[in-house]
Amino acid sequence: MRRLLLVNALIFAVLASAVGLAYYGYSYTSEVSTREREIIQDTMRDLAEEKVIGIESLITSTDDKVFAEVARAIELDRLRDDLQTIAGEPLVESIYVLDDRVAPVLDGLVSRRTGDERLRARTLFLTAIAPSLPLRDQPLNVRGHVHGTWEGRPYLFSFAKKQIDDRTYYVVVETNLTYLFINVFPEFFPRSPRLYQVVDQDGLLRYGFDFAADPSNVVIEQPFNETFDKWRLRVAQKDVSSQERAGRRQILDFVLIGGSLAVILAGLGVLALAIRRERRANELKSEFISNVSHELKTPLSIISMFGELLALGRVKSPAQGTEYAEIIWRESVRLARLIDNVLDFAKIERGVDAYEFTDADVGEVVARAIELSQHRLAKAEMTIEAELDPELPPVRLDPNAFTLAVLNLIDNAIKYAPDGKKIAITLKHLDDRVVLRVRDWGQGIEPDEQARIFERFYRARAVRLKPIRGSGIGLALVEHIVQAHHGTVSCASTPGQGATFTISLPVPSATAVRGRTVA
Ligand code: ADP
Repeated sequence: MRRLLLVNALIFAVLASAVGLAYYGYSYTSEVSTREREIIQDTMRDLAEEKVIGIESLITSTDDKVFAEVARAIELDRLRDDLQTIAGEPLVESIYVLDDRVAPVLDGLVSRRTGDERLRARTLFLTAIAPSLPLRDQPLNVRGHVHGTWEGRPYLFSFAKKQIDDRTYYVVVETNLTYLFINVFPEFFPRSPRLYQVVDQDGLLRYGFDFAADPSNVVIEQPFNETFDKWRLRVAQKDVSSQERAGRRQILDFVLIGGSLAVILAGLGVLALAIRRERRANELKSEFISNVSHELKTPLSIISMFGELLALGRVKSPAQGTEYAEIIWRESVRLARLIDNVLDFAKIERGVDAYEFTDADVGEVVARAIELSQHRLAKAEMTIEAELDPELPPVRLDPNAFTLAVLNLIDNAIKYAPDGKKIAITLKHLDDRVVLRVRDWGQGIEPDEQARIFERFYRARAVRLKPIRGSGIGLALVEHIVQAHHGTVSCASTPGQGATFTISLPVPSATAVRGRTVA
């Protein structure tokens, strides 16, 4: 009982640690892959931030420089001479210097544009854009900006309020987007394992490569705060192979964990099965010991009783004396058979093969077994109808062992089918086999037990409760003997209508027989 508890506890412990290990492996793998993804995301976020700051500081530093230089030029009254030079900054498209009424001051407009385009842009600025800029509310000397679309085109304006000699000026700088797109962006967004995009408020591509919105791609978005506040920078990992590799590794991890778990479970299953089998075998063994002891005891007490009667001379007539002696003889034969069975069985259990094969006449062997059973048959008031084919080829067999096998089948028919009154035995040559059938008309065997009765110590349910003696090793012995002869044994039965046991032995081919004879 304690051993059983220990085994169960051990199985439970192994199971629990296997489940724990699998869970740990699973969570570790998921954690690692989540962590990897997070690291990639963090790196890309840092990168996107860096790019946005770089671009914005380039624009804002240009703006601040322009604001300061324009203010100085106004102070020195050199706007007319200096504005053109100040506007030479490549990132500057136009500069508008406006007075406190938001009207352009004299010589206060400069632009890269030429001809009609210059005129169109200036008119647009003065009529539509400038009045909409929050210039008046702007604190002094602080850069403000507006990013918007006018007449279908994007513009970025930066502005500052300046107070010079008690007069208020507004300096508005229009950023040169063409220069930015052609010269600045390519510098910031080189071809690398990462893809860059600048998208507008509707998600439309303004700059960069169009990359598919694959959910497995790690994509980071970073807004521009100081400049293009309607646009966002998007960064994606172009080299997805490392992600794919991570995915593959995760699958592999799961397969390995699942596989080991399955192996452990299968192992435990086999162990549980082995334990159950062993327990069953132990139960059967003890049952066998009590059965055998009982079987040994009965003939022994009969022998001792009749021996005592003879020894004490308690016989009324010589005929009675002969009868007592016959009983003693019969019981001792039975005892010897039982002991033979047990010893042979013990040999099988130890794995000792003690067969002596010769080319024998199987008909003779079967006839001898029938002969030996005559006495028991007569006592059970049964008869045997034997039909032994006279023209049988020689078969390679151990006559003693085979006799024992046939005797066991006949004994069983006598034991379990006495009501049928007869036993039919046929021995035939069919193709390349010699087939022996032992049929009785007893209670038969249930279908689910027909294979099990060949197991050692197994006794059918129907006989276990009856006072029919047996040890459950007879048929196991028969099967072992037949298999040692390279034959097969089987049982066919319809419960209530008797049973037929069939032994089929191979007949050696002519060449094989010749070969053996030569050898
Ligand atoms: P034993 O006869 O000592 O119990 P066996 O191995 O010879 O052991 O037989 C195993 C079981 O098979 C028997 O206990 C019995 O239940 C069943 N059996 C064997 N032969 C017959 C038969 N001719 N008719 C019905 N049941 C049989």
